[in-house]
Amino acid sequence: MNFRKIVIAVDGYSACGKSSTAKAVSAILGYRYIDSGAMYRAVTLYFLDHHVALSNPKEIARALKKVDITFRINSTNKSETYLNGLNVDKPIRTMRVSELVSQVSAIREVRIAMVEQQRRMGREKAVVMDGRDIGTVVFPQADLKIFMNADLLVRAFRRQKELLDRGQLVDLDDVMENIILRDKTDTTRAESPLKQAEDAIFLDTTNITLDEQVDEVVRLALSKIIGPQ
Ligand code: C5P
Repeated sequence: MNFRKIVIAVDGYSACGKSSTAKAVSAILGYRYIDSGAMYRAVTLYFLDHHVALSNPKEIARALKKVDITFRINSTNKSETYLNGLNVDKPIRTMRVSELVSQVSAIREVRIAMVEQQRRMGREKAVVMDGRDIGTVVFPQADLKIFMNADLLVRAFRRQKELLDRGQLVDLDDVMENIILRDKTDTTRAESPLKQAEDAIFLDTTNITLDEQVDEVVRLALSKIIGPQ
């Protein structure tokens, strides 16, 4: 039996279960998981902490040179985000970062720097990467492209629960408002807007469980991995 190493791109709207699905699929396949949203969040955290003016391209270029983002697997086999050697997995998920990340990720220089790193990370294949532009821009040749969405209220509930599990109590209205705003900024920006790639498979996660989402993506992935050479 021949097994191919493939690249799986999981794109979609905010809080529709991309990361949870991509993480679980990568664990089942023994693939590397890359959370590209975490990279934009880490840049945003750096910009916030260093008061980088988003309107000043020179300042942005200077700051980007000082941002080093890596992923490390922790003792419970979970991939965590590091910014300049520091674990930032928790701070990048706070509302402070969520409220600014779509503005930061719309900046051309930021995207150029992140896409270059993402392509390097996926060079060896055997990778599942989730984000907004993975199937359209980062890996237009990805072997499998998934595009996910779910009803707004379902997404807001899920994100609120996720934040609560991390110890953050956030009002449902605030979560919903943030999702709406990020969807709007992500779909209307000039640079790599969020959109479904023509060859992506659409997955509506409103009425299905995480296990069902994962099963479906694994099934699709296996057909590529085991399929004809
Ligand atoms: O995936 P997550 O919701 O954590 O992403 C945070 C933000 O990062 C998104 O709202 C979007 O603005 C940006 N992003 C992006 N391109 C990606 C991944 C995330 O612009 N590939």
